[in-house]
Amino acid sequence: MKRFLFVLLLGLFLSPFLLRGDNVLAQNLNAPQKEAIYTDQNTTPSQFHQMEAAMKQQRLNEIRKLGIAFPLKETKSQSDFDARYYRLDLSLNEATQIISGSVYLYGTALINGFNVVELNFFDNAQMYVDSCKSNNALVSFNWSSNLIRIYLNGTYNIGQSFGVTVYYHGHPLEGGLQSFDWSSHGSPSVPVISTLSEPYFAQAWWPCKDLPRDKADSVDINITVRSDLYVASNGLLREIVNNGSTKTYKWHERYPITTYLVMLAATNYSIFSNWYHTLSGDSIPVNYYVYPEYLSQAQSTYPVTPSMIRYFAETFGEYPWIQEKYGMAHFTWGGAMEHQTCTSILYNWYSDWVIAHELAHQWWGDYITCHNWHHIWLNEGFASYCEALWAEHNGGSSSYHSYMNSMQFWSGGSIFIQDTTDAWGIFGSIVYDKGAQVLHMLRHIVGDSTSFQILRNYYSDPRYANGVAETEDFQGICEATSGMDLNYFFQEWIYGTYYPKYRYSFMTEPASGGSATDVYIHIDQTQTSNPTFFTMPIDLRVTSSTKDTIAVGFNDPRHKDFKVRVPGTNVSVNLDPNVWILRTVNSTTYGMNIVTTDLLAASQFSAYAETLLAKGGTPTYKWKLDSGNLPDGLQLDSLTGVISGVPAVQDSFDFTIKVTDSTNPVKTDTQQLYIIVGEGPFLRGDANHDGLVDVGDVIYLISNLYAHGPDPIPYDSGDLNCDGTINVSDIIYLLNYLFKSGPAPC
Ligand SMILES: [Zn+2]
Repeated sequence: MKRFLFVLLLGLFLSPFLLRGDNVLAQNLNAPQKEAIYTDQNTTPSQFHQMEAAMKQQRLNEIRKLGIAFPLKETKSQSDFDARYYRLDLSLNEATQIISGSVYLYGTALINGFNVVELNFFDNAQMYVDSCKSNNALVSFNWSSNLIRIYLNGTYNIGQSFGVTVYYHGHPLEGGLQSFDWSSHGSPSVPVISTLSEPYFAQAWWPCKDLPRDKADSVDINITVRSDLYVASNGLLREIVNNGSTKTYKWHERYPITTYLVMLAATNYSIFSNWYHTLSGDSIPVNYYVYPEYLSQAQSTYPVTPSMIRYFAETFGEYPWIQEKYGMAHFTWGGAMEHQTCTSILYNWYSDWVIAHELAHQWWGDYITCHNWHHIWLNEGFASYCEALWAEHNGGSSSYHSYMNSMQFWSGGSIFIQDTTDAWGIFGSIVYDKGAQVLHMLRHIVGDSTSFQILRNYYSDPRYANGVAETEDFQGICEATSGMDLNYFFQEWIYGTYYPKYRYSFMTEPASGGSATDVYIHIDQTQTSNPTFFTMPIDLRVTSSTKDTIAVGFNDPRHKDFKVRVPGTNVSVNLDPNVWILRTVNSTTYGMNIVTTDLLAASQFSAYAETLLAKGGTPTYKWKLDSGNLPDGLQLDSLTGVISGVPAVQDSFDFTIKVTDSTNPVKTDTQQLYIIVGEGPFLRGDANHDGLVDVGDVIYLISNLYAHGPDPIPYDSGDLNCDGTINVSDIIYLLNYLFKSGPAPC
């Protein structure tokens, strides 16, 4: 194992120079000599993601040749029933490359009067639907536009269940990198028959309601092959039936499973196992189905898997399929695929992070599946992030950070896949690498322990367990767990494009009193992409002669200036030194900046004074209100930068201040600020608001009541007897108080 760790670390050190990216992708796609590429054990994680993505993209392109419009829409019939169970009974003839058999669907009607079942099934002109049955009776069907319409021999109401069987045969969508693959290995060569159905390919070889969000409660997969072949599949193997020249392997997946995760892989496997010991002390088998000629290589590498399962189980929650197994089955496709309980993996690829990635998918992708392909990052970003967690588990924090630094993504596009009709879109490496960066950034924003609690809460939430989720569901878990409003974060990183380009500068002043230093840090973002401004907390590491200080500045459009006081002198500043943000950073010399970012709240009728501060440039400064409004009653002194006066009106006031210095040419800066004016104390009886209760207030009230004079400010200052209104009795009350020693205002 250490040998591979060394390779891993070596790869990490090299990775900044190996990376990028876009032409690797293009080369891979066109490369006929895939073995030459994929046997490279020094492949970086990012390159691995690009390969996996490129292969999935290529398969999509193949399927598009059928003229199928993506995304596949759920039909009316499909939204009217719940697929509960499938049984696949298929014979595979490697000589003719024909599959034949049946698929039985057991479903439940979600409407009254349900009588037509529609199943997705690609018509590549080489597949044939022979017949359909319902309740053991032949029923009529038609097959067009890659959809089988089956007319049930009965009508079903809400909650009633039905069964239907499709009998078919033929050669599924052809090609070496597609859903159903006929290939071979070894010398003399032995057939390999394998499937990979993500995202739209289950329906290429078995009729089903092929939508990620309708998981069957369980599936039986009965596969008959030449008797020297062994079939690996989902769940547990219940029985091998020897038919003479053929054998039938009966696999049963007892857990809910979505259609694209149903798999088979068959060849003359060498099989070996070890055990995962669950958190509660049970043992489940971890089975490796490998090409015999790769047995020793697999035996020296794969046995790490149980310790990985253990680590992920301790970190996220128990392995999802503890009544079954975990498995890895060799196939020839140039990547790996997280089939539920049985990952398919390229036969000559032995990198830890590939094993970690596909294993992590059992939690993220298989147990909780993306609701649709717009949110594929919930599968791929999570699995990629888990590679880095595994690196951290083995090599500590520096390994984690090196790993994340090797998975940066600098291109455009959004993690949310806008267009799932785009074959290149769904499996772009953005959902892997930048998706992983999202979890990495989130970890630092919410804090380490909270970030892991988020993953545990997400995993254990019954709304998503054995089900599906969208980005907003995950956001909800993040916010509920952390108590933070993280909408800004998800909006800019999942729906926005690119990343912040920070440019920062700082200046220092000796702090009053001597041995400390005040550091003024200014941060600009220079990207012109969307969003033009990323709101993020940013680590500011201030290093002085005596101490390293990390301050967190919450960088939003108003907060571009930060003041940090540190002990000692000889200060330097580093922005995001540990690379917790996907960003670029440049430093520049300090210009002139308004460093006041927040102003104290004011109270109505209470004297207010706040001094705006600027740093840099050449004093003296000149201040002016650039736009917006100061609270009524406050003024800005253009020479001192003091905002003062007595606010008259309760409200929130937004404004922009501009400052210029005395350099030639002048430097300028602007700053958005606001002042909230709240309710202040007032003197009851002081209706004219001159600070005194006297005869002037009597006149003011008479004018208000009888001559349309203005109301007292605040109104209650004229309500001397506190009866809620101002009327003549308040005037009498005031006169009594002033001239007849009557009671003071209430
Ligand atoms: Zn993946």
